[in-house]
Amino acid sequence: MDIILINPPVTRPCEPPAGLARLVGALRSHGCSYLAVDSNIEGLIFLLEGNAESQDTWTRRAVNHLEGNLAALTSAKGFENMGRYTRAVTELNRILVCTSRQANAHVTLGNFSQAGLSPVSSADLLCSAEQQEKNIFYPYFKKRLLALFEKYSPHTVGFSLNYLSQAITCFAMAGFIRTACPDVKIVLGGGLVTSWMKRPDWNNPFSGLIDDMTAGPGEERVLSLAGAEYSGEDPLPDYSPFRKNSYLSPGKTVPFSTSFGCYWGKCSFCPERSEGNRYSCLSKDRVFSDLDCIIEQESPNLIHLCDNALSPALLERFASREIACSWYGFARITHHLCDPDFCSALKRSGCVMLKLGLESGDQRVLDELGKGISLEVAASALKTLRNAGIATYVYLLFGTPTEDEGSARKTLDFTVKHSESVDFLNLSIFNLPREDTREKALETFDFSKGDLSLYQGFIHPRAWNRNNVRQFLDKEFKRHSAIAPIVRNDPPVFTSNHAPFFVLNRRG
Ligand code: SF4
Repeated sequence: MDIILINPPVTRPCEPPAGLARLVGALRSHGCSYLAVDSNIEGLIFLLEGNAESQDTWTRRAVNHLEGNLAALTSAKGFENMGRYTRAVTELNRILVCTSRQANAHVTLGNFSQAGLSPVSSADLLCSAEQQEKNIFYPYFKKRLLALFEKYSPHTVGFSLNYLSQAITCFAMAGFIRTACPDVKIVLGGGLVTSWMKRPDWNNPFSGLIDDMTAGPGEERVLSLAGAEYSGEDPLPDYSPFRKNSYLSPGKTVPFSTSFGCYWGKCSFCPERSEGNRYSCLSKDRVFSDLDCIIEQESPNLIHLCDNALSPALLERFASREIACSWYGFARITHHLCDPDFCSALKRSGCVMLKLGLESGDQRVLDELGKGISLEVAASALKTLRNAGIATYVYLLFGTPTEDEGSARKTLDFTVKHSESVDFLNLSIFNLPREDTREKALETFDFSKGDLSLYQGFIHPRAWNRNNVRQFLDKEFKRHSAIAPIVRNDPPVFTSNHAPFFVLNRRG
């Protein structure tokens, strides 16, 4: 075995890791020998099935309900009632929180933190590598990695590091490999690594531990590590190494990307723009032939299209044919979505839900953010999608430098006015990307001491700072009688990953 690829904990354990599936597809199609391991689902199950300190009634009940709660999150029945679903998620989190307390960590189904270690500090990540045995997942990964090394003797281990919640454990695992098998080459790639490496001041602080780091799509690099030459062809993702895992979803979900970067790429403050990520996409024919193969091979219940934004041209192709599986993904709000025939055709093609980055209900803010969205079009699109039977998951962003309290109230008014056409809401507070140099006028400061922080604080030019925004959201926005039920509708922890299953369940 040449290469072992690993998805480190913790990310939401509801579907196979999309990035690894692509790399596995590349290695397989070039005849390389490899193994892929989703340590995220394995590690979380290890913690759940460990012995949680059950000193209180809540924890004892959570431990007693473990089997039932795992069954609830893997069956349609668990999604019939938000109360039952929330109880399952909350009780599983309770076990994880109690178990991880022993190691001064805080683990949930979607997050990880360890006291004294920041995932945005290279010194802390190296400390996590050195003090690997203090990581709550250590007993799991020590046993698992040693067994893998003994059986397969790989020359390289690659980690796919996409989220901050994976970083501390990823480095603990890397530290263990460096100690236990010093000759094994350790490679890092993934979305978070890409963001680090795109910083102009990037100066690899991990050279003593990590042998190689790769920004952007990793196919070419992983193939060269396996001794193969990249043909330039995007291979079909391969999900077979992950089939045996019991992901927490009521039906099999397969993640699939038709593109990298964003075809729009004009929204100010979007990392896709500030990192200068180039857009590339599969041809339309290729998208549908890949989808046909994936559906035949995996028989999924749901396809998660992971693109930053599905282009209108691609949506048109979806609308022109039926996919033998339900699907959902991100789309920009464009006039196409105001066409009832187009939306009905999208629905027939299998579209269950569209995620829509509206961000603001103030046209001035939208224009200044470069969103290219008209509120008139947005209102019409929401209504048309609802009439067509496609659920909407609407993303709103508060506290951008161009927003003030009056603008936020306009967003409140817009949301209330169109609440009947909004199924789910994601409310975020704006973070200023560190590399965004266009807003030179902003007075900025460091959020944290971490040298790897991707964001920075700023003095809001309209005195609409994070505390004011938070108070507005908590005390006013979320409490509005038209909005509160939508906020309560959002599946805790799994949010948009599980929302389509509630939609499918509603439809029976
Ligand atoms: S559409 Fe989304 S991904 Fe694309 S530039 Fe705008 S915010 Fe970024």
